[in-house]
Amino acid sequence: MNKRIYLSSPHMSGQEMLYVKNAFDTNWIAPLGPNVNGFEEDLSTFLGGKTAVAALNSGTAAIHLALILLGVKAGDEVICQSLTFSASANPILYLGAIPIFVDSEITTWNMSPVFLEIAIIERLRAGIKPKAIIVVHIYGMPAEMEDIMNLSKKYDIPIIEDAAEALGSQFNGKKLGTLGTIGIFSFNGNKIITTSGGGAMISNSKELVAKARFLACQAKDTAPYFQHSEIGYNYRMSNIAAGIGRGQMEILSLRVYQRRRIFLKYKKLLSHIPGITFQEEPDSLYYSNRWLTALTVEKSISFDVESFRKFLEEDNIEVRHIWKPMHLQPLFQKYPYYGDGVSEDIFSHGICLPSGSNMSDLDMNRVIKGFKKYFSGKYMYSFSFK
Ligand SMILES: *Cc1c(COP(=O)(O)O)cnc(C)c1O
Repeated sequence: MNKRIYLSSPHMSGQEMLYVKNAFDTNWIAPLGPNVNGFEEDLSTFLGGKTAVAALNSGTAAIHLALILLGVKAGDEVICQSLTFSASANPILYLGAIPIFVDSEITTWNMSPVFLEIAIIERLRAGIKPKAIIVVHIYGMPAEMEDIMNLSKKYDIPIIEDAAEALGSQFNGKKLGTLGTIGIFSFNGNKIITTSGGGAMISNSKELVAKARFLACQAKDTAPYFQHSEIGYNYRMSNIAAGIGRGQMEILSLRVYQRRRIFLKYKKLLSHIPGITFQEEPDSLYYSNRWLTALTVEKSISFDVESFRKFLEEDNIEVRHIWKPMHLQPLFQKYPYYGDGVSEDIFSHGICLPSGSNMSDLDMNRVIKGFKKYFSGKYMYSFSFK
């Protein structure tokens, strides 16, 4: 059996153990300590120095706290991109609030500004003002942030940027996560950098981030004993995990470069195949970290994502379906949805290719060979040139 090629696996810099060892040597084995502070500073510096950062134990926790900080309560409505991982939307339900799903546009695959405005207008007409907009930059690709931010201003609804997959991506020269009122990142094992599991909530408002740290540490009032006036959470990042994060921050820019290089190689060697469209940066304002290389196959080609996945799986290569849109999920299908099926089409005709920065050229060649083999079989029978 050939060596397994993963979709995206952890890729250490080699410096992580120094920070982790330091935590052991100084006995900072706790959900606070010098690595946590250091990791927050490293991230803040990477983001341009003006952004405050709270290191947390997951990206999901970061979204949960972001919603709480924006005042979301039971019965409130929160607008959320439909084409995403369920972790974007689950925290809405934690709070007993109601998700309102919005479709994607075909270029970046992220929230459609057109349907976002339709959704806002419809909700306002029904007498409900949505409390927040959760926009996601899937696979690292920036959403159409200019239009989305204009709508956020026009209707006075704050944005939570789910940049879990987009650390190092940029829109108009600004790092993703820093454009909305609150941004979140994930450091799960398969993301562009990892802390073995972790996340962060960021904001240009120091007050919001200070409040996030307070809530993440059980909301302890300033008192000589344990006194609590608000619901607290146990969401802080451990000093060990943050040590891994510090080692990873040293090579984050390199990882962005490596993932973009993988995308370019796939594009160079596969885009001549008729009917293949990569998820593309619309223009030079958009800069994706290319966390995962993703593409769609034209509808006229009878392409079955699952048969393709199984075909590469036989050679021990992991490819993945595009996120199944939230409005199609058994858990979420009863909630309102505004769109015209773009995310459904991307889901049923799209795939993610292995994109880990630790892939060798040989690994990439194996994926490309398998890809071509599958498609050469297809075109013989089903493709006709126009
Ligand atoms: C990974 C991910 C999350 C959740 O992050 P965790 O750290 O796994 O909790 C949220 N949103 C998106 C889009 C993700 O890909």
